[in-house]
Amino acid sequence: IEEIEVAPPKAKEVRIKILATGICRTDDHVIKGIMAAQYPVIVGHEATGVVESIGEGVTTVKPGDKVIPLFLPQCRECNACRNPDGNFCIESDITGRGVLSEGTTRFTCKGKPVYHFMGTSTFTEYTVVDEFSLAKIDAAAPPEKVCLIGCGFSTGYGAAIKTGKVTPGSICVVFGLGGVGLSVIMGCKSAGASRIIGIDLNKSKFEKAMAVGATECISPKDFTKPINEVLSEMTGDNVGFSFEVIGRLDTMVDALASCHMNYGTSVVVGAPPSANMLTYNPMLLFTGRTWKGC
Ligand code: NAD
Ligand code: ZN
Repeated sequence: IEEIEVAPPKAKEVRIKILATGICRTDDHVIKGIMAAQYPVIVGHEATGVVESIGEGVTTVKPGDKVIPLFLPQCRECNACRNPDGNFCIESDITGRGVLSEGTTRFTCKGKPVYHFMGTSTFTEYTVVDEFSLAKIDAAAPPEKVCLIGCGFSTGYGAAIKTGKVTPGSICVVFGLGGVGLSVIMGCKSAGASRIIGIDLNKSKFEKAMAVGATECISPKDFTKPINEVLSEMTGDNVGFSFEVIGRLDTMVDALASCHMNYGTSVVVGAPPSANMLTYNPMLLFTGRTWKGC
C-alpha cells in the first residue's frame, strides 16, 4: 500500500471517491505482465464511486452523483460508438498508454508519475477519469454489488446475449467458471439455453455455477479424451455455443473445436496473453464455425 497524490480533474475530467471495487483476473494479468500497461500502474477497473469534483466543461455528472467507471468509454462520436453493433470506443486504452485522453497522468507517488489502467484505476481511494468513462447510476444502488457491472457481469452476460447471440433451446458450454464465466452462464440461461455445461479444473467452482444456471459441470482432468470429443458425446454432437472465459490459447482452440463444426459459434472472452501467437487448424473454420471475440 502506497500513499499517492491524486491531482484535481482537468477539463472534461471527473475525480471520484471509490466506494467499492471488484477484482478481475485482468488486473492480475497486468501485474504479471501478460497484458500491456505502463508501470508503475494503479490497476482495478470494476468499481462504484461517488463524484468528488468535476473539471471545466463537465455536464453529465455533478459532485455527489453515484457512478460506475467504464474501461470501455462512450465518446458517442467514433464509428464504434455510433454503430449499434459496436461498443469498442476508440478512446479506450487497450494498448496500455496509461494516461487520460488529454495525454498525461493525474497520479504521483513520492513525486514520480504513476499510470492509469484502462482509464479507470480503481484500487485507490480517489481516481480521476475522463467524463466519457463514467456512467451515472441510481443513488440507492448497493455499491458492493453494482460494482460488478463495471466489468465481470456485463462482459459475461453480454458475451452470451450480444456477441454469441445464444438462441432458445440451444446447448452452451462455458470454459472457466470465475466471475466472468458465471455471468456468461446467467446470460445463456436468460437467453433460454436448454443445457449449459460448465468446465473448470477447479471443482469447487461447480456449486456456484450450478446455482446460477449451469445444468452440469465437468473437469477435463476426469477424461483421457480431448474435451471436444467428450462434449460431442455428451450432447449428440450439438453444442451451439462455446465460450472461452479463462484466457489461455489452448482452451481457446478447445472451445472452438467443441462447438458444432458447421453452425457452432465460439466466443473468446478470456484475455489473450499479449506476447503470444495462436496456432489452430483452419479446418475448424472451413466447415462453417463462427469464431468471435468480445
Ligand atoms: P478467474 O480467474 O476468476 O476464472 C478463471 C477460471 O478458469 C478459474 O475458475 C480457473 O480455475 C479456471 N481455469 C484455469 N485454467 C483452466 C483450464 N486449463 N481449464 C479449465 N479451467 C481453467 O477469471 P475471471 O475474472 O472470471 O476472468 C476470466 C478471463 O476473462 C480472464 O482472462 C480475464 O482477463 C478475461 N476478461 C475479459 C474481459 C473482456 O472484456 N473480454 C473482461 C473481463 C475479464
Ligand atoms: Zn475486468
